[in-house]
Amino acid sequence: MASHDVTRLKAHEMAALLRSGETSSRGLTEAHLAAAERQNRALHAWLVIDRTGALEQADKADRRLAEARKAGRQALDALHPLCGVPVGLKDLVSVKGGQATAGSKILEGYVAPFDSTVTARLREAGAVILGKTNMDEFAMGSSCEHSAFGPTANPWDLSRVPGGSSGGSAAAVAAFHTPLAIGTDTGGSIRQPASLCGIVGMKPTYGRVSRYGIVAFASSLDQIGPFGRDTRDAALLLHAVAGHDRRDATSAPVEVPADLLHLPEGDDEAAAYLKGRRIALPREYFVAGMEPGVAARVREAVAAMEQAGAHVEEVSLPHTDYGLAAYYIIAPAEASSNLARYDGVKYGYNDRSSGDYIADYLKTRGAGFGPEAKRRIMLGTYALSAGYYDAYYLKAQKVRTLIKGDFDSVWAAGFDAICAPVSPTVAFKLGAKVDDPVAMYLSDTCTLPLNMAGLPGLSIPAGLSDGLPVGLQMIGSPWSELSMLRLARAYEGITARAPWRDLDPAELSLTDDPSTPSPMDRKRAIAAAGAPGRQA
Ligand code: GLN
Repeated sequence: MASHDVTRLKAHEMAALLRSGETSSRGLTEAHLAAAERQNRALHAWLVIDRTGALEQADKADRRLAEARKAGRQALDALHPLCGVPVGLKDLVSVKGGQATAGSKILEGYVAPFDSTVTARLREAGAVILGKTNMDEFAMGSSCEHSAFGPTANPWDLSRVPGGSSGGSAAAVAAFHTPLAIGTDTGGSIRQPASLCGIVGMKPTYGRVSRYGIVAFASSLDQIGPFGRDTRDAALLLHAVAGHDRRDATSAPVEVPADLLHLPEGDDEAAAYLKGRRIALPREYFVAGMEPGVAARVREAVAAMEQAGAHVEEVSLPHTDYGLAAYYIIAPAEASSNLARYDGVKYGYNDRSSGDYIADYLKTRGAGFGPEAKRRIMLGTYALSAGYYDAYYLKAQKVRTLIKGDFDSVWAAGFDAICAPVSPTVAFKLGAKVDDPVAMYLSDTCTLPLNMAGLPGLSIPAGLSDGLPVGLQMIGSPWSELSMLRLARAYEGITARAPWRDLDPAELSLTDDPSTPSPMDRKRAIAAAGAPGRQA
């Protein structure tokens, strides 16, 4: 069945078939919509599946493709490879006339009056937006369980989380509901769910992708990035959305490499890139509490690259240990400020029952925000208050500079990349960490230092531990996305015949069964059966 199922194709394969006219965008879009609609009850990756809008965009793409085919080679080459290819958007990306809840009740009912730059660029490319994916409220979390609309399941094991906060996007790509999806990463929210779902996810350099029209969490850390099932697909999506935007003052006027569209096709050609590359392995990233299976897969991946011609050296990034503490001052501080705008007047949900402005404001925020958003608002407000600003916020910013300095010294020593684990654990059980914020926060120990330093990083599948995916993290110097993706493509090349490559998520087929419980019902059942052991 798999060979005839167009949802199994990679985006770059779809692009080729669309150009030659062997398939239509409508056909592709119908197939993906059908899969998403059929399996969403069991997976809950999508908050909205926009059948009507998607089919309209597909027909439009088909017209563009037909015209270009008629006009000849040059016209076809002028089209972006994503013309006619489906994509999912995390529900914090503004799409004019559609919802953007950011996973929060407080944005329920809000209708975006404009397209984000990412949306506008995808439309320009001709990509087909299938719908909006589930996420932790305001992108705060590592499991997707902080969504006000219920959790998402991991298609590898439906009793486990897909990671977060972009868990809906990652699960949808892993489950073949879409070849591509957009996520955001403030401390790990693209890389960690990519790792836990066995797909590729990239957080670009801060400033690479415009944040205009994306619901803000922590503005100095947030970046938008791609999910795909291979590096070539992730590169295509990054190419489509990246680039300077005058509507985002932090967007950088840095050229987007055209070669993102031309990562090597052949595995051997791709693997040749490894020869002579210098890879740093930071000892501090093999943190206490890391599952042995995760550490083993990462070390094996690095050994395989060494075997293929890379030079690997252990390095020290001495301030890594302080990353988590500093992040959980800075991110909540910025969040407390960004979330101040949700007052029940301008956006979405409100409670105006008392008729008193202040009382209504308190009730709106009291009922509109979930527990994690409230925790962050309180932590952030406290850290920014007059008496504590210097002791906490300013201190954390200084630590941030030290963390950046650690990375700078690696680039100054001539390394091409840093390889590290993504998440200390494989996907954990629904409910295992949701009542233990610190355990949840530890999920991002190995990812958040990059956000602190503004660096690009990606997660690429590197095998399984206990039958669950493990990601390998590759970290690069600023604006080195193309090199990072080439390196990741090289790793794909040398592992092309590994038995774990291109496996179907183990429990995906269960999502077709109408008796399979929803993630919410499953989570309740797990809780009722007794809390599972907490993993650090
Ligand atoms: N899990 C981290 C947090 O809760 C990172 C989230 C993210 O990258 N958006 O803040």
